[in-house]
Amino acid sequence: LIFTLSLCFYGSPQGMAFSLQERQILGIHGLLPPKVETQDIQALRFQNNLKKMTDPLEKYIYLMGIQERNERLFYRVLMEDIEELMPIVYTPTVGLACTHYGHIFRRPKGLFISILDKGHVRSILDNWPETNVSAVVVTDGERILGLGDLGVYGMGIPVGKLCLYTACAGIRPEKCLPVVIDVGTDNETLLEDPFYMGLYQKRDRSQAYDDLIDEFMEAVVDKYGQDTLIQFEDFGNHNAFRFLRKYREKFCTFNDDIQGTASVALAGLLAAQRAIGKPITEHRVLFLGAGEAALGIANLIVMAMTETGMTQAEARKKIWMYDKYGLLVKQETDTNQEAFVHESPGNVESFLDAVNTIKPTAIIGVAGAGRLFTHDVIKAMGILNERPIIFSLSNPTNKAECTPNDAYTLTNGRCLFASGSPFGPVTLSDGRVLTPGQGNNAYIFPGVALAVILSRVRHISDTVFLEAAKALAEQVTDKELEEGRLYPPLSNIREVSIQMAIKLVEYVYAKGMAFRYPEPLDKNGFIRATVWNTNYDCFLPDTYDWPGIGFSPK
Ligand code: NAP
Ligand code: MN
Repeated sequence: LIFTLSLCFYGSPQGMAFSLQERQILGIHGLLPPKVETQDIQALRFQNNLKKMTDPLEKYIYLMGIQERNERLFYRVLMEDIEELMPIVYTPTVGLACTHYGHIFRRPKGLFISILDKGHVRSILDNWPETNVSAVVVTDGERILGLGDLGVYGMGIPVGKLCLYTACAGIRPEKCLPVVIDVGTDNETLLEDPFYMGLYQKRDRSQAYDDLIDEFMEAVVDKYGQDTLIQFEDFGNHNAFRFLRKYREKFCTFNDDIQGTASVALAGLLAAQRAIGKPITEHRVLFLGAGEAALGIANLIVMAMTETGMTQAEARKKIWMYDKYGLLVKQETDTNQEAFVHESPGNVESFLDAVNTIKPTAIIGVAGAGRLFTHDVIKAMGILNERPIIFSLSNPTNKAECTPNDAYTLTNGRCLFASGSPFGPVTLSDGRVLTPGQGNNAYIFPGVALAVILSRVRHISDTVFLEAAKALAEQVTDKELEEGRLYPPLSNIREVSIQMAIKLVEYVYAKGMAFRYPEPLDKNGFIRATVWNTNYDCFLPDTYDWPGIGFSPK
């Protein structure tokens, strides 16, 4: 016990911010330099050190170190400079960190469950020290960002996502549990890497894998309750769709790559529609890629179109997909894609042909295959549309379909552009400065998670993601739209998430999806009262005197 206490208090959780009384009572006086520091000074020290570093991976390692030593300070630093630091704890740097995970490893974070543990998942969960988890982010590492199979090295993703639960939506860090399920990896480099940390075997794709995921889901609700939110993240395409279908009505779960992406992309389209002044039903969308992201976005666009009275069949006709094998046309068999398979419009040999034939108002790149929006594609979009919509959403940065620089310069600044990874503003030759939108899922999942957890939603309907998209698009100001932005500035993301959560809590109560009783009447006050902040706790016991009269005999 003494060992853990000194481990816990020596230097952490708040370092030199312990007051003199706290130091004395905790028995750590003298173990810290004499000065009692404010969190402001502590934050400044870290910020200065971060500024000196040029290598993003070095920054990542440094930040993760602060998270281990002083969690509140970590979140303070992260939240104060979220625009600069989100690309470190999240895409793109987290991708680099995952790739090198076994090499930069310092201390374990999160919970690891391997297929060898089948039958014992509940007892592994019991080893997790927190008893009150509300949100789990789980991956099996098969499709980490656009980087492919990274096996257990993918742990950086659930850890990073949950950092954003806290930083962006004020969800308490101890309520968040990152999990990697290890069923092997098909990544040959990792199978030969001496620092790899998972099973040295090919992915188990047998019934045992499904049974393990079933066991995991049941163990989570058994331990933490039926309404524990379970976010699926970076599973391979086939499993992502299967598990979503299998679990969505039985657990409180969503798949961020399908549904979160859908919501943030739709929000971008809704904002673009505000800028162009053309209703969503008049758009024609051509996707590059026909996987989790593309199908998620397409289905949500259909939902948004049908809400305005269009039939589902009509809406689906407005959406085309182009994948590795070309345009999705009749004779394809993948059932997930069925809705967007159309009669062949003629001879289409390339994506450029597809653009010229289908004449889309928007192209959305989610193939994870690099710069496939060529100059000719962008120019064609500029000829076909006064204000073409070009979303280049693949991550990380080098997988983006095109850069904002190309998109803006080749359309003379007329296009409405969003990317998945962050890019800086672009100055055009006429001096105009345009700021590309970042269609970052972080605009959606923290706010959705906050609303779902607080109102005890049992399962999350797609309409929640539709409402989230609307709530996000509404928060873009007219001035921001003029600057080219399709999303509010990231620096404001916490307020954006809270505003979204307020809207969503109102929505889920109105629709009978919320199970927290009694219903909070003042949703705004209710949410703001629960969000976590980074002020230090006081470690002093509650000491006081009794009034003079008392227990002595007369
Ligand atoms: P996925 O399910 O594996 O889908 C990838 C799709 O792209 C598949 O349909 C694939 O076809 C197709 N494709 C691959 N290479 C292609 C090529 N050369 N030409 C045309 N199509 C090609 O992956 P996902 O989850 O949709 O993610 C795709 C990308 O989107 C990733 O880079 C990811 O980081 C990014 N993403 C961004 C955001 C965001 O910015 N908010 C959110 C989620 C995902 P096959 O199936 O035939 O291989
Ligand atoms: Mn993902």
